[in-house]
Amino acid sequence: SKTLRLILGDQLNINHSWYKTVDDSVSYVLMEIRSETDYTQHHIQKILGFFAAMRNFAEELKQKQHQVIYIKLNDKNNQQSFDKNCKALIAKYKFTKFEYQLPDEYRVDEHLKAFSRQLKIAFSISDTEHFYSTRAELKDFFADKKMFLMETFYHYMRKKHRVLIVDGDKPVNGKWNFDEDNRRKLPKTHKPIPPFVFDNNLSDIETEIHKANIKTMGSVDSRHFLWPVNRTQGLALLNFFITHCLPLFGTFQDAMAPGEWSVYHSRLSFLMNTKLLSPKEVVDKAIEAYYKNPDKIAYHQLEGFVRQIIGWREYMRGIYWLKMPEYATLNYFDHRNELPQWFWTGKTKMNCLKNAVQQSLQFAYAHHIQRLMITGNFALLAGVHPDEVDAWYLGIYIDAIEWVEITNTRGMSQFADGGIVGTKPYVSSAAYIHKMSAYCSGCYYDKAKKTGEKACPFNSLYWNFYDKHEAKLVKNQRIGMMYSIWHKMQPQAKAELLEQAQYYLSHINEL
Ligand code: FAD
Ligand code: SF4
Repeated sequence: SKTLRLILGDQLNINHSWYKTVDDSVSYVLMEIRSETDYTQHHIQKILGFFAAMRNFAEELKQKQHQVIYIKLNDKNNQQSFDKNCKALIAKYKFTKFEYQLPDEYRVDEHLKAFSRQLKIAFSISDTEHFYSTRAELKDFFADKKMFLMETFYHYMRKKHRVLIVDGDKPVNGKWNFDEDNRRKLPKTHKPIPPFVFDNNLSDIETEIHKANIKTMGSVDSRHFLWPVNRTQGLALLNFFITHCLPLFGTFQDAMAPGEWSVYHSRLSFLMNTKLLSPKEVVDKAIEAYYKNPDKIAYHQLEGFVRQIIGWREYMRGIYWLKMPEYATLNYFDHRNELPQWFWTGKTKMNCLKNAVQQSLQFAYAHHIQRLMITGNFALLAGVHPDEVDAWYLGIYIDAIEWVEITNTRGMSQFADGGIVGTKPYVSSAAYIHKMSAYCSGCYYDKAKKTGEKACPFNSLYWNFYDKHEAKLVKNQRIGMMYSIWHKMQPQAKAELLEQAQYYLSHINEL
């Protein structure tokens, strides 16, 4: 018998049980195909990062004596889709069995299910052996509940996997969540550690991408590609994070400043989403470092980090498999506007948005609060259609894969799911942005002004949003207070705010 095993670009898990034994009757195939480069317009660094990581992974398998077929983007026989390429290989090499690992994307899952069903040879599907939870675990856990609270799921994951648990099933240090100790603004005199970057020469791959005429966004210096593209580099970044960033991770988790593109964030999302690193090894190493250096790493820094991975990341995956494909159509507020053109250039006078967009174009990265409270916040206040918002986020970030992009964008950020992921929309006026960042002081707009010349657009758009969606939001207990403020405002003041918002909405490309 001869087996063909398909490895997807986000399944680069070298510790998978597939590779435990070397078997000449098993061939592995990886492919660079147009169905994957073209399902959305990706950042150039995202395509480069994936292709480089795939090529390195194929080399590693070959070095371990596995049989590997690697189809490059411009190879003559490349038919540019999983099914067509696999079909051709099965016919050519007379494979008698086809195997693949559970895809993380609904689109690819459906594609491979349909392909396998019509095969005349046997097929089987394996788990990716990457996540803490199974696809259906969140669904089963919340089976009889109306609300899907992340925090509840997080406690369950901690207990189940015995992560920071003592005395049976109690959380270490008596509490599950230590966020109240986190989230400080960067002091003016504090300079965060410069991001640890790599120097990979990927100019050959860039040439191939251009030759194929793939439409991309963003910029790159492909001779000095700064993202990690193999496991060794991934482990080096993990080590850097734990030594230099984890001690201040929670404290400055929500902090933003011009020019600081990752502050103390880990930038491990690309490595975990491609499975070069497993979430378990990331969490275990962080915990080990805490127990070795309790004087250096306070518990609240560690717990905040662990929660992002064991909590949020697993939770989003569970919601995705519970709610797809309907999730991709949800538009709770019935928003219809287009994304402003400066989302593709960063050319806006709004300093917070200029910084967040420009660094996203330059590095294919923005940290969570920039995604949520700058770009996401603005798109929601501007009433942009969630399809447009999703397409932008799915393309621009190096870590963007639909299962974790759409749940964060359509769900957490745009509230287009009407409150499955979040309990209230994440919107704010300039006050929050000023509280957490150093953007406002260098801005053309005045953070303190609500109306009139140079009034910060966030201020009027914020009240306009609440006014417009009162019927949908007024009963939400977490928002009620905002409506009592709104209702107490003088009619004249309210009218001026709404008029200012209308002006900005109709001049959105000139902000
Ligand atoms: P850190 O701040 O260092 O956090 C550590 C890890 O925790 C991350 O690597 C990530 O794996 C995990 N994590 C943290 N927050 C979340 C979250 N909300 N959901 C899932 N995992 C989380 N994350 C992606 O991986 N891909 C996306 O396409 C993506 N799109 C997003 C879109 C929007 C609008 C928002 C608000 C968030 C999005 N996120 C996405 C979640 C989060 O912003 C990124 O995981 C994080 O910024 C990645 O940077 P980091 O590795 O430095 O994270
Ligand atoms: Fe952003 Fe408004 Fe602050 Fe300018 S004043 S940086 S637009 S929040």
